[in-house]
Amino acid sequence: MKKEVIIVGAGLVGSLLSIYLAKRGYSIKVYERRGDMRKAKVEAGRSINLALSDRGILALEKIGLADEISKISIPMHGRFIHNLDGTTAFQPYGKQGQYINSVSRGELNKKLLNLAEQNNVKIFFQEKCATFNWRENAVEFINTKNGNSTEARASLIFGADGAFSAARLQHQLHYDRFEYHQYYIDCGYKELTIPEGPGGSFLLDKNALHIWPRKDYMLIALPNLDGSFTCTLFFPFEGEQSFENLDTEEKVTIFFEKTFPGLTELIPDLNQQFFHNPTSSLVTVKCFPWIRGDKFALIGDAAHAIVPFFGQGMNCGFEDCRILDELIEQNGEDWQTILQQYQALRKPDGDAIADLAINNFIEMREKTADPKFLLQKKIEARLHEKYPEKWIPAYSQVTFSPYIRYSEALKRGQMQETIMQEVMNLSGIEEKWGSEDIEKMILKKLDS
Ligand SMILES: Cc1cc2nc3c(=O)[nH]c(=O)nc-3n(C[C@H](O)[C@H](O)[C@H](O)COP(=O)(O)OP(=O)(O)OC[C@H]3O[C@@H](n4cnc5c(N)ncnc54)[C@H](O)[C@@H]3O)c2cc1C
Repeated sequence: MKKEVIIVGAGLVGSLLSIYLAKRGYSIKVYERRGDMRKAKVEAGRSINLALSDRGILALEKIGLADEISKISIPMHGRFIHNLDGTTAFQPYGKQGQYINSVSRGELNKKLLNLAEQNNVKIFFQEKCATFNWRENAVEFINTKNGNSTEARASLIFGADGAFSAARLQHQLHYDRFEYHQYYIDCGYKELTIPEGPGGSFLLDKNALHIWPRKDYMLIALPNLDGSFTCTLFFPFEGEQSFENLDTEEKVTIFFEKTFPGLTELIPDLNQQFFHNPTSSLVTVKCFPWIRGDKFALIGDAAHAIVPFFGQGMNCGFEDCRILDELIEQNGEDWQTILQQYQALRKPDGDAIADLAINNFIEMREKTADPKFLLQKKIEARLHEKYPEKWIPAYSQVTFSPYIRYSEALKRGQMQETIMQEVMNLSGIEEKWGSEDIEKMILKKLDS
C-alpha cells in the first residue's frame, strides 16, 4: 500500500506536485482555501500573467503538459525598452531561438487542476488549513463557507500554500530553533491593463517583455492571448515619487504622461484602474528546516517566496516538484532519505534564486537603459556565441539552462561579473571591446 498524502494549497505548485505524486501511485488529497477557480471569475489586479521559462517547462514536460501549455503561451524573445525620451530598443534575452513565455496564471492553474483530477487526485475547495496536530500528523481545516471544521490525517503532508503559508507557521510554532527570515522591499506593485486594439490586435510588440526603466522604479508589460497586455508598476510605497503621493487623478495623469510617454493613450481608463486595483507588497521568505523527518515538507513559495524580478518563483517551485520526483525514482519509498535529500538540494537553490531575484530588480529598473551595461551584455553575448560551454551569461544560466543549479548560477554569475567589471573599466573599451586582446584577457581570467 502506497502512502496517503495531503497537500495544503492547490495553487500552481500544489497542483503540479499532486500530479507527480499521483502518477507514482500515491493517494492524494489537496485542500485549497479558495473556491474552484474553474467555476469562479479571477479577481482583478493580482499577477494575471507570468513568465514561464525552461525550468518550468521541463517540469511540465515530465507530466506531459508542456505542449498544451505552449499553445496558450506567447513567446517573448527579449526586452523591449521604452526610454524616457520616447525612443525604444530591443535587447534579446539569449541566443537566436531562445525565449521566455507569457502565460495566464489562471489558465495554467486550471489545466493543472484538470490533469490532477484526471489522475484521481481529490481536491477539496474552500477548506482553509488552520492547525496541525504533529503527534497524530493531522491537519484541521475550516470550511470558509459554513465554518465547519474537519480533521484530515496522512502519513505525509506537504505545505504548498504560498508565501504566507499556514502550514509553515504551524511548523514554525512547534519546531525548536526554526529559522525564519522575511523581508519586504520598499517597492510595491500595481497591475494595470492595456486593452486589446481593434479586432484583438496588440498595441505593442507582441513578442517581447516591455520595460519602462526609470531608475528607482519601473513599469513592465507582458502580452495576453486576447491582444491585451498586463502592466505591472513597481513603485516605492513612500517618498516623493510613490504610491502614497499619487493620491489624486490629476497627479496620476501628470505623472504617467511625463514618466511613461505614450502609455496614457494606451490605457484610456488609467485612473479608474489605478485607484481600483490593489497595491501589493513584495516579500522574500527564507526558512529552515523545510522538512520534518519522513512526514512533512514545504514546497514552492511556502518554502522560498522570492521577489518576481527574475520571473522564477513559479519556475523554481515547479523545479522543486521535478527534483522531488527524481528523488522518489532513486529512493523508492524511503521518504526519510527523499525529504532529506530534497532539502539538501533545494534549500541552497531557493536561497540563491532569492538573492538573484533581488539583484535583477536593480538590473531591470536601472541598468537596462545604461549604454555601458548594454555594451557589457553585447560582449557577454559574443563570448557565449563563440564559447557556449565556457561563458554563459547569468541570465541564460537561470532562464535557459535548467540543469545548472540556481546556486551554481549565482556563483558563476558573480565570478563572471567580477571579470566583466575589470573589462568594463578598461579605458577605451567602447572602441576595443571586439578585439582579440579583450577576448584573450577574459578567457585567461576565466581559467585562472
Ligand atoms: C507580481 C508577481 C509576478 C510574478 N511573476 C512571475 C513570473 O513571471 N514567473 C514566475 O515563475 N513566477 C512569478 N511570480 C511568482 C509566482 O507567482 C509564485 O512563485 C507561484 O505562484 C508560487 O506558487 P505556489 O503554488 O507555491 O503558491 P501560490 O501560487 O501562492 O499558491 C498557494 C495556494 O495555497 C492556497 N492557500 C493559502 N493559504 C491556505 C490555507 N491556509 N489553506 C489552504 N490553502 C491555502 C492559496 O489560495 C493558493 O491557491 C510572480 C509573483 C508576483 C507576486
